[in-house]
Parts: sequence; C-alpha cells; structure tokens
Amino acid sequence: MHELSLALEVIDLVSKETQKKSLSRVFEMEIEVGTLSGVEAETFQSALEMVVKGTLLEDSKIIINQTFAVGTCSDCQKDFNMKERMATCPDCRSYPSKIIGGDQFRVVSILAE
Ligand SMILES: [Zn+2]
Repeated sequence: MHELSLALEVIDLVSKETQKKSLSRVFEMEIEVGTLSGVEAETFQSALEMVVKGTLLEDSKIIINQTFAVGTCSDCQKDFNMKERMATCPDCRSYPSKIIGGDQFRVVSILAE
C-alpha cells in the first residue's frame, strides 16, 4: 500500500527533525494532501494511525487537510474543484484546459517541544 509507506516516511522525517532539535514530544502535525497528489487522504490517515503507535507521534493531534485542484473548463472557462484527475466541468462536461494546484503532499507544520 502506497499510503502506508508514505506514512512511515512521514514518521521517519518527523523523528529525524525532532531529534535534530532535541524535541521529545509532538503535539500537533498538519499535513496537506492534494486531491491529485495520488494519495488518498482517508487511507493515508488510517495508515498513519496504524504506524504511530510507539513513536513520538502516538499522542499527537494529526490534521490532514485535503486541498482541491482547480481546473478551468476548456469550453466555458469556468473554474471548478477537481476531486480527481479525470474530473470534468460540472456544466458542460468538458475537460479542463488548465489545472492549478492539488498535487501537493507535504507536512505543513509540526508543533513540538
Ligand atoms: Zn464548462
């Protein structure tokens, strides 16, 4: 499972980062998952819950923010939120001529002491 290896990677990164700064507790971590990032937010969240046990993220509040890609319709020029890569304009069902954002997968912030 792709999300599971990503979850392990995030924990690894956070562990290294907190070690470097001599921090021992993480209160909160915020992660941004774009709808076109190839990561399924819910699957990622449950994968993360599975692997945090015994790590310094075990009791942390983990916030997963899903961000949408915005496509511009190639026919009516309307901007619309894209939940998936093949999303079409809600009005004319055309594919977008331009897509902005939605491909990020990143740790936005970590609150630790
Ligand atoms: Zn349209």
